[in-house]
Amino acid sequence: MKKNQFILQMKEYAEENHVPIMTDDGLHYLLQYIKKHHVKKILEIGTAIGYSAICMCGVSDDIEVTTIERDEPRYLEAVLNVEQAELEDRIHLIFQDALEVELDDTFDLIFIDAAKAQNIKFFERFEKNLRQGGTFITDNMDFHGMVQVDEDKIESRNVRQLVHKVKNYIAFLQENKNYDTQFLSIGDGLAVSVKK
Ligand code: SAH
Ligand code: MG
Repeated sequence: MKKNQFILQMKEYAEENHVPIMTDDGLHYLLQYIKKHHVKKILEIGTAIGYSAICMCGVSDDIEVTTIERDEPRYLEAVLNVEQAELEDRIHLIFQDALEVELDDTFDLIFIDAAKAQNIKFFERFEKNLRQGGTFITDNMDFHGMVQVDEDKIESRNVRQLVHKVKNYIAFLQENKNYDTQFLSIGDGLAVSVKK
């Protein structure tokens, strides 16, 4: 199967099975960033079915991705997709809760795209694995526009708490003097935090 056709097939699968893969414009930004900054070693929190990991590897043949997923059916689907893309030697899939994973490697880019409520924990856990001058990119900073909505107007308690957590993470990044963070309204909202 041709590469583009396979990417489209993964997108269709994601849509049919309600897998929240990156939007086209968010992914486009991420891939451009990788290209522009010659990113080679990437850590991804939240593999889902391997769609974004496979796309990131497509930027250049010398890119390696380590990616973590805690959901077994998704992890197994990712294993199949990575095999089909013939990227087993460049994509390292870890089936575990990211908050229990210990890594020694150093990465150029850490892409956080998992449970929104835990972003601060992911950031703090993997900070030691990001090289100086490296970048954290966090997805879903707008939470489908919910971050803009007045918290009192959100009826679901669950959603309200999640919005609160996303706002805490925004404040955490803004106050973090070790990083320069930019917030971009691309896709579902991205935070780009460069380690000084
Ligand atoms: N990056 C993927 C989409 C990821 S969706 C893409 O664009 O193709 C978010 C995924 O993060 C889900 O599959 C969810 O199971 C996983 N996830 C959430 N919290 C996690 C955690 N603590 N550890 C590992 N995976 C987690
Ligand atoms: Mg996302």
